[in-house]
Amino acid sequence: MWSQREVVDYALQRRHTLEALRRSVRTLSRGDVCDADPLLVRAAMHHGEPTDPDCPVCGSKHMVVLNYVFGDQLGQYSGRIKSSAELDSMQSEFGEFKVCVVEVCPDCGWNHMTHSYLLGDGVKRRPPRRQRTVEDIYG
Ligand SMILES: [Zn+2]
Repeated sequence: MWSQREVVDYALQRRHTLEALRRSVRTLSRGDVCDADPLLVRAAMHHGEPTDPDCPVCGSKHMVVLNYVFGDQLGQYSGRIKSSAELDSMQSEFGEFKVCVVEVCPDCGWNHMTHSYLLGDGVKRRPPRRQRTVEDIYG
């Protein structure tokens, strides 16, 4: 991604969580870390992109990553999941937005934000005009 900047890596927090899980099953149970919301798991199955490492908890090969986008300039699209291809074209359509990358294991429910970063061409724009959604029409 040519416009990628301000990358924040959450690998340390991820390692702490995993170490705590291994160290003491009593204080931190698998249920505490593998707490993916059913909606998150469903999103992972539909929109997730395969990722290399196996699940650090159950060893599953089905781990995926989801890219959540946030930003004032995105308007109603802030908070949505976008594919890498969509991010690629969005960087020249928006001045600045944040991408939060979350890894999800659909098998055991492990989920963790691995890193976040900013994308965008730096040109400030007004958010796109709000589009009517299915919810607006059918309430
Ligand atoms: Zn797993």
